[in-house]
Amino acid sequence: MKLLQASVCLISLILVLPSIFAASSSEDFDFFYFVQQWPGSYCDTQKSCCYPTSGKPAADFGIHGLWPNYKDGTYPSNCDDTKPFDSSTISDLVSSMKRNWPTLACPSGSGEAFWEHEWEKHGTCSQSVINQHEYFQTSLGLKQKTNLLGALTKAGINPDGNSYSLESIRGSIKASTGFTPWIECNRDGSGNSQLYQVYLCVDRSASGLIECPVFPHGKCGAQIEFPSF
Ligand code: 5GP
Ligand code: 5GP
Repeated sequence: MKLLQASVCLISLILVLPSIFAASSSEDFDFFYFVQQWPGSYCDTQKSCCYPTSGKPAADFGIHGLWPNYKDGTYPSNCDDTKPFDSSTISDLVSSMKRNWPTLACPSGSGEAFWEHEWEKHGTCSQSVINQHEYFQTSLGLKQKTNLLGALTKAGINPDGNSYSLESIRGSIKASTGFTPWIECNRDGSGNSQLYQVYLCVDRSASGLIECPVFPHGKCGAQIEFPSF
């Protein structure tokens, strides 16, 4: 009898295990990148930009996204097409999203298309930890907490079109947030390298910043511009 029970147990385990792994592998990840963009650097490129339908955003960093990532540098994307973006789940956040997560892509939009893209590509891969409302709420909280523009201006680094050393930009954000950021540059209409996006890392339970397990690839010059907006 014992032997029969043991075999039934073993067989159930063998049947159930693969489905547990399959379910977790599509949704699992190691940490998040929290990515913020400088609007001046999105807009002064050859491609240019369009202000959202609600008007020109404030001269501040805006959220780009909260991106689940693996420690080996790869990342999951578009994990669940059964959970489309549903603005009714975030109606309490929309006015804050318009201010803190504005869209600058053309043609002008309210922001919904940008938020929908970020949720469907990245957010759906974080559902083992946070739901749709938490995905957007967590991002808004991180934006407030990191206060990138405050960190930079406190160190005398202002969006005035001047060049600053990459080291001083990194150092001021580290001094203020406690964590080393990764800086992504792009080029303005004349080809100058400029501060475009700032990446900070967040632990996999989305509860706070961590040192990045791995940095993305790419290079800025030693001196980069910080354009106005
Ligand atoms: P790009 O190729 O312009 O750097 O990135 C295009 C898009 O790919 C990003 O906006 C983002 O959605 C995704 N992406 C690029 N690099 C990473 C990364 O390191 N981690 C994650 N999770 N997504 C990334
Ligand atoms: P990702 O690069 O995150 O995969 O994709 C960004 C998508 O969101 C692109 O299709 C882009 O056109 C759209 N988008 C809308 N507004 C913005 C914006 O303000 N910044 C960026 N980087 N992409 C935006």
